[in-house]
Amino acid sequence: MELRTRLLIGGEWVEGSDRFPTVNPATEEVIAEVEEAGTAEVDAAVRSAREAFEDPAWRDMDPHRRSKLLWRLADLVQENLEFIAETETRDNGKPAFESAKVDLPFVVANFRYFAGWADKLSGDVIPVSGPFLNYTLREPLGVIGAIVPWNFPLNIASWKLAPALACGNAVILKPAEETSLTALLLGELALEAGFPPGIVNVIPGRGPITGQAMVEHPGIDKIAFTGSTETGRIVMRSAAESLKKVSLELGGKSPNVVFADADLAAAARGVTTGIFYGKGEVCAAGSRLFVEASIKDEFMDVLVARAAGMTVGDPTHPKTRLGAIVSKAQHERVLSYIESGISEGAVLRAGGKPASVDGRGFFIEATVFDDVKPDMKIAREEIFGPVLATLAFSDLDDAIDQANETIYGLAAGVWTRDVGKAHRDGRRENAGTGWVNTYNRYEPGSPFGGWKQAGCGRDLGERAREEYTQTKSVWVALD
Ligand code: NDP
Repeated sequence: MELRTRLLIGGEWVEGSDRFPTVNPATEEVIAEVEEAGTAEVDAAVRSAREAFEDPAWRDMDPHRRSKLLWRLADLVQENLEFIAETETRDNGKPAFESAKVDLPFVVANFRYFAGWADKLSGDVIPVSGPFLNYTLREPLGVIGAIVPWNFPLNIASWKLAPALACGNAVILKPAEETSLTALLLGELALEAGFPPGIVNVIPGRGPITGQAMVEHPGIDKIAFTGSTETGRIVMRSAAESLKKVSLELGGKSPNVVFADADLAAAARGVTTGIFYGKGEVCAAGSRLFVEASIKDEFMDVLVARAAGMTVGDPTHPKTRLGAIVSKAQHERVLSYIESGISEGAVLRAGGKPASVDGRGFFIEATVFDDVKPDMKIAREEIFGPVLATLAFSDLDDAIDQANETIYGLAAGVWTRDVGKAHRDGRRENAGTGWVNTYNRYEPGSPFGGWKQAGCGRDLGERAREEYTQTKSVWVALD
């Protein structure tokens, strides 16, 4: 494979209305100039997706064949895994370990999982009165606009594409401006797998231009979005005009709660990966740590030693576990949160400084704050970087009250050896995903999404079927 920089519309690689550079955040070098879709290209993508969706070649395709296409796409991602993972690492700054061993294998597994759903989209037969047969059909929605962020570029793209295609829709994918390259590679592989031209379109561009034009376009039936809560609000507002369906997977400020009776070594490991995996650029990052007051000093010593061992490194090196922050702008944003933590009086226990590899790159040390107060900015706002805010709690009720004191509700972790306490805590935490004595576990079959302002709708699992189909109720008179 080679890098692609043009737009994929209707099976053709076409020029956009402008271009923008995509930068390797570890070296600060421009990797490529990518074509940007303006309003005219968004319109062309919608037309080609609509035509492809309505073409009998796709509309009437045997569901087993759709399943095979998805399986074939998984095979092609697997065959090209090394090149795609390398590209993801260069474009995003994430360690090669994460791209090659975690993100891309998930993409493969996800396409295989949803390949399995393509021929299982059955409806129901409803018991009704009178001589009638009433049954339901699950129909595709039509054209899906998938708008995805830069933190897990191909992975989250697959969270939208795999179920959308399994359910028989056509897709227009807009990757984040910072990380367009692997989405374009996926577009190429979808063509190679045999999806009809126009069923998978990939149109890079800036959010307020390309993304906004997609959300406003009356020819798109649904926007499947992952990104910040702020942008999610704009998307929902703009989608109201054409009353298109939206699903939103948004921000988080997820709590990780450590009780005194936990396996403290395991908890320290889980808390560390919970915040530093993916450089903390993870919507479900365990960015608020709550530790039971009686063990806080002891636990913090172990945690701080672990954080200090998480040194930044060249993301292409297989041993690196803390890569480069995705962009200069995000680097500045995270550093400004660290400054705010210091100026608001939190105690900096580890990291806190920008870093570089060979004198270059947007790196930040693994950072741990202690004695954080609930009203501090670093305790309330999504930082999306390797910055942990630690608070103390006195008992179960106090832990739950503090953990739930947020506008978000994406995920929550709890560490305890007391099974009853784990379940009581889990039941009362306001979050779409709960982890007990583990953190950051995902599987294609397990639904993922937020409560409160962390979003609406669910990615992954059986629930994703609801997001990409609509129900038709059919009545047949039997007399
Ligand atoms: P955004 O939410 O702005 O980006 C997510 C996607 O939405 C991108 O593809 C973006 O395009 C697109 N987008 C931006 N504006 C619009 C719009 N008006 N209409 C339609 N689509 C749009 O995240 P940012 O990249 O700006 O990051 C800002 C902050 O958001 C981060 O610091 C982090 O805190 C948070 N964030 C949270 C994520 C999560 O999963 N919870 C993911 C990413 C960011 P483009 O990138 O090209 O502008």
